[in-house]
Amino acid sequence: MSPRPLPDAAARRRFRRALLAWYGANGRDLPWRRTSDPYHILVSEVMLQQTQVDRVLPKYHEWLEKYPSLGALASAPESDVDRTWRPLGYNIRPRRLHAIAREAVERYGGRLPSDEATLLSFKGIGAYTAGAIRSFAFGQRAAILDTNVARVLFRVFVGRGDARAHATRKHLWAVSEALVPRKRVFDFNQALMDLGAMVCVARTPRCLVCPMKNLCRTYGRHARARRAGAGGVRRSRRRRVRVVVAAVIEKGDRFLLTRRQPGVHLAGLWEFPGGKIHSGESHGAALARELREELGVNADVGELVYETTHSYPDLAVALHFYRCRLLGRPRPLLGQEMRWVRRAELRSLGFPPADTELIDRLSGID
Ligand code: SF4
Repeated sequence: MSPRPLPDAAARRRFRRALLAWYGANGRDLPWRRTSDPYHILVSEVMLQQTQVDRVLPKYHEWLEKYPSLGALASAPESDVDRTWRPLGYNIRPRRLHAIAREAVERYGGRLPSDEATLLSFKGIGAYTAGAIRSFAFGQRAAILDTNVARVLFRVFVGRGDARAHATRKHLWAVSEALVPRKRVFDFNQALMDLGAMVCVARTPRCLVCPMKNLCRTYGRHARARRAGAGGVRRSRRRRVRVVVAAVIEKGDRFLLTRRQPGVHLAGLWEFPGGKIHSGESHGAALARELREELGVNADVGELVYETTHSYPDLAVALHFYRCRLLGRPRPLLGQEMRWVRRAELRSLGFPPADTELIDRLSGID
């Protein structure tokens, strides 16, 4: 049962109408919006999972030129597929695509099925990707919920509470399902994603130009918070924000984790190695220093893979996660527990709340 009421029929109609009108005037023209080929949709969705649109665009074209069908991808050697994927990060993604292609060839004649249960039976296709394929490729009335869409729906229809809580996430899926129209499903879901990417952005939502401003439960709240931050309390609030950098270090199918020691904030929880940046330090320099101090190893600090902010009762943390490659063997120099943890085990460990979404992404739960 949904913990909160769903939007009523009038609210659903207003939301759809406002969203589609806005999309008609402002939607982005992207190559995967000019196709209904399920394979092309799948490729774009997997590429977009952790990478910005402008970096995906050239790779999307290159990939489809090289592997124009699921059959072509299935018969390519894994090393070739890995190479083609670079420099996009998260190397598990090309392997997932490759495995999906092989399964589609072996079991479904080289085509992606259109029904939800069969799509979800593929390793690497979660609820979001299944919804995207069903709505974008097959025109089915299927909902989607990724980070951007969840943020929009939370702000418009919920407004208060922990947006990351499991119950809230479940409720937002129900909201998305209630909202998705019978017609123009493709446009509606694309519009939701664009609104989250272009207007209702994480840090500074553009409420004044938002088509939802008359409906939204949090309209103006962000602007008020910013104005309050610009006044006399600004300095004391700023002092309480801790900027932290952390390393996502992957070897095979395992990630290097350390455990927070007794007596510190969030003691006993697992985390990606890293720490606070010092005044004047760049993120890369801070992370390289932390890895030397904590693990006695030099590292190449690579691309930013995820960033988030989280408020604890006693402090707010801005976290920036970078992909890193170690240039030696790590040793836990501070007496902390250290482990290489399999991807499939990640969700069984305790992590700080701020890491939850990254753990879901790395676990392949979209
Ligand atoms: S009014 Fe502001 S908070 Fe609400 S959906 Fe629009 S941009 Fe997001």
